[in-house]
Amino acid sequence: MSIHPQNSIRFRLTFWYTLTLAVILAASGLFSYYYFSFSLRQQVDVQLREITRQIDRHHADLFAPGGDVVDCQQLQNLIHQFNWDAFIQLRTEKLRASCSSENLMGEELAFGAVARQQVRWLSQHLETVAMNTGLSRRVISHPVIDKNKLVGVAQIAICFGSSEKTINQLRLIYLLVGPFAIIWLGVGCWFLADRMIYPMIAITESAHGINAENLERRLPTGGHQDELGRMVVSLNRMLERIEDQFQRVRQFSGDASHELRTPLTILRGETEVAMRWAKTPEEFREMLTSNVEEIDRMERIIENLLTLSKSEVGELPLEIREFSLSDLIQGLYIQSKILCEPKQISISLDYQAEKEVLIQGDELRLRQMFLNLISNGIKYTEEDGSLTIRFSLDGEMARIEIEDTGIGMEPRHLSRIFDRFYRVDKARNRMDGGTGLGLSIVKWIAVAHGGSVTVTSVLGEGSTFVVLLPVAGPDKDNLYSQAISG
Ligand code: ADP
Repeated sequence: MSIHPQNSIRFRLTFWYTLTLAVILAASGLFSYYYFSFSLRQQVDVQLREITRQIDRHHADLFAPGGDVVDCQQLQNLIHQFNWDAFIQLRTEKLRASCSSENLMGEELAFGAVARQQVRWLSQHLETVAMNTGLSRRVISHPVIDKNKLVGVAQIAICFGSSEKTINQLRLIYLLVGPFAIIWLGVGCWFLADRMIYPMIAITESAHGINAENLERRLPTGGHQDELGRMVVSLNRMLERIEDQFQRVRQFSGDASHELRTPLTILRGETEVAMRWAKTPEEFREMLTSNVEEIDRMERIIENLLTLSKSEVGELPLEIREFSLSDLIQGLYIQSKILCEPKQISISLDYQAEKEVLIQGDELRLRQMFLNLISNGIKYTEEDGSLTIRFSLDGEMARIEIEDTGIGMEPRHLSRIFDRFYRVDKARNRMDGGTGLGLSIVKWIAVAHGGSVTVTSVLGEGSTFVVLLPVAGPDKDNLYSQAISG
């Protein structure tokens, strides 16, 4: 599957990284530009207001009310007295330009319509005026008031000077260097993203090459100790689990077809022999009886397989309700006595709970589970052996042991006997009518109830199966997930 360049991580990483940096750069540039400009203006405004304060204090010397005249000599005196480094222009009450400081050299300070209006309303007007030099100056038009009447206007201007130059240069640098910096960052990020993504591409390509035929292959870790390394380890573990499940499914389908083919072959063989050689009704009956046995066997296998596969997809819901586990065990014990009779196996019940134990569970399924274990105990115990059913409470768990003095098993088989179709002695089991699925069903039922089943066994001495079941019943929220993963 090819990825559209715009959807690639490389593109998106570069795009967002560059965009973020561009925004940060622009925001910090704008902020510093406006901040410096603002504080420069503030400084100048403070100086301007200071001069207007002094002019206000000496306004009586400067302006004659109703006279439309200004004492220019007085202005020069004030400039010398306070050493003002500013451009000053005084206007009469009729707003006519009158005297100005020498540094203005005859130039008249800007006095626009807005400024005029403002001073007529007896309020100050501040503006920034650009000069021919490319720099600018701050001009205040200040109404001089006496007895609530306008007696004149003081216009004071101060150049921003070298600070403005610096700010302008800063702005120029930002405008010129900024776009280059962003482009270089973008290019750098593009290559960096490539380096970061390359191992991912290598992993993806390796993953592409893994299929059902080579599930044993693993993804290369490439010595990564970072998040990527962890991801590869996780993926490899997942592959391990998939391989394991795949093996099981393979084994299972192989076993299942083998198990079903064997009785079919026997059926076919016996039928062909009978067709060729059987003559009397007895011979035919004998053949048909044998056929029915094989059909029974196939039916049992199919039924058990169906139970297991339904349990896996959650189509075999447990009917959980409260019932007496003590009664179930005692009933099974009585039933088992009859089953033990043909082989003269002695059976005993060791009931160690002080009172009746009620449990939340599916009674029919639990009965099926215990019957499987008991019938195995009988099946794999020689004549005159013994079987013990032990019942006790272990905290919140009911503990049921089924112990026999039968043939037992070698330790190597113990971890596998709960697998489907696993049998210790295949030939012998066939004769016993076993399907190799009984213990798988036992395990499913125990786990689905939130419990467990374990086995201990000594070859030639006997086996003990221990079932632990929570008295409170299974956790209803994950009734099946446990059984499936188990
Ligand atoms: P089967 O139908 O063949 O008995 P199970 O799943 O019930 O299948 O058991 C799996 C295998 O475990 C059996 O084939 C047998 O070899 C072994 N097994 C089970 N129970 C016992 C037992 N009580 N004593 C000895 N071996 C046992």
